[in-house]
Amino acid sequence: MPINYQALAVQGVQGLMPYQPGKPIDELARELGLDPSGIVKLASNENPLGPSPLALEAARKALSELCRYPDGNGFKLKAKLSEKLGVSAAQITLGNGSNDVLEVIARSFADASTDIIYSQYAFAVYPLVTRAIGARGVEVPAKNWGHDLAAMAAAVTDQTRLIFVANPNNPTGTVQSAEAVEKFLAAVPERVIVVLDEAYCEYLEGDEHQRSLALLSRYPNLIISRTFSKAWGLAALRVGYGIASAEITDILNRVRQPFNVDAIAQAAATAVLDDDDYLVRSRQVNTAGLKQLEQAFDELSLSYIPSSGNFIAVDVGEQAPVIFNQLLAQGVIVRPVAGYGMPRHLRVSVGLPAENQRFIEALTHALEMPEDQSAHG
Ligand SMILES: *Cc1c(COP(=O)(O)O)cnc(C)c1O
Repeated sequence: MPINYQALAVQGVQGLMPYQPGKPIDELARELGLDPSGIVKLASNENPLGPSPLALEAARKALSELCRYPDGNGFKLKAKLSEKLGVSAAQITLGNGSNDVLEVIARSFADASTDIIYSQYAFAVYPLVTRAIGARGVEVPAKNWGHDLAAMAAAVTDQTRLIFVANPNNPTGTVQSAEAVEKFLAAVPERVIVVLDEAYCEYLEGDEHQRSLALLSRYPNLIISRTFSKAWGLAALRVGYGIASAEITDILNRVRQPFNVDAIAQAAATAVLDDDDYLVRSRQVNTAGLKQLEQAFDELSLSYIPSSGNFIAVDVGEQAPVIFNQLLAQGVIVRPVAGYGMPRHLRVSVGLPAENQRFIEALTHALEMPEDQSAHG
């Protein structure tokens, strides 16, 4: 009798669907026989500016030490973060992308006998991580596409160990004010860990993200997670971090893999934190790009969810899968979000002005096409 290894996988894993990433440019180029340079990818919320020159130079320098293990404690990166954020190095947990941090948090605090709360339409990694560790996921219905924080606080039971809050959220781009977050924290028992996932906080106006850091001293159950993948433009290198009390940080550092952030990633991330100009330009390009896309959607009479991130979810109607394929056929990659329970929407990352324009023209063309002419069916 052949062994059924599917049946041997732990129960939560048996029902898992792999995370669906944005389609890589080279893959579409192979499928369509196109030149990769002619393809526009607006599917993974990447920074369209390309990497900062400071990050590139630091990464190149780090190459000469490839034979050595990286600094498992990330001393230099933590020191730089600590200086920039005004927290101590003992409050920082580095991760292989913030995804890694989210997973380490879940494995540290939840198991098969406990619950994890997250919102409807929230980041796909929360239910994925929850199931992978066999915990029970509690999905709280969204309000106007965003987190209903009052309902999430009310959903806490004796079994709840963890709550994931994405602020701004992906794929909806919705955001909660610092006041709303604080009110939520005040309503959650201190024995429940709250993860504030701030992957897009650098795009927020003014000092909004500094305000969440100030909550750390008042709420010992708070963990903030951030990343170098989005506004800092280092998605390929996989670096993120968590900020929490020294006590929680000590726990997370026991669970994470000893060398989870490689040496090149550490060097580039440390260097990019000095490139304030890069961050300013990233924000400018994003603000202008969001405006460009919103204006086009208005002209096409398409409704969209106002976004505080570097992407926007637009309602293209019931034919969204067909429109998605028609965009692909024109060399434009965006992200379908049916897997998030949003079958009418497509999520578009903000690109450079010319990339946004390519997308707008391709979308206009796709909307005009009869539905049975889709290239991929
Ligand atoms: C992109 C994203 C992340 C993390 O990405 P990493 O590349 O793993 O740092 C985390 N949370 C949300 C909501 C995101 O959209």
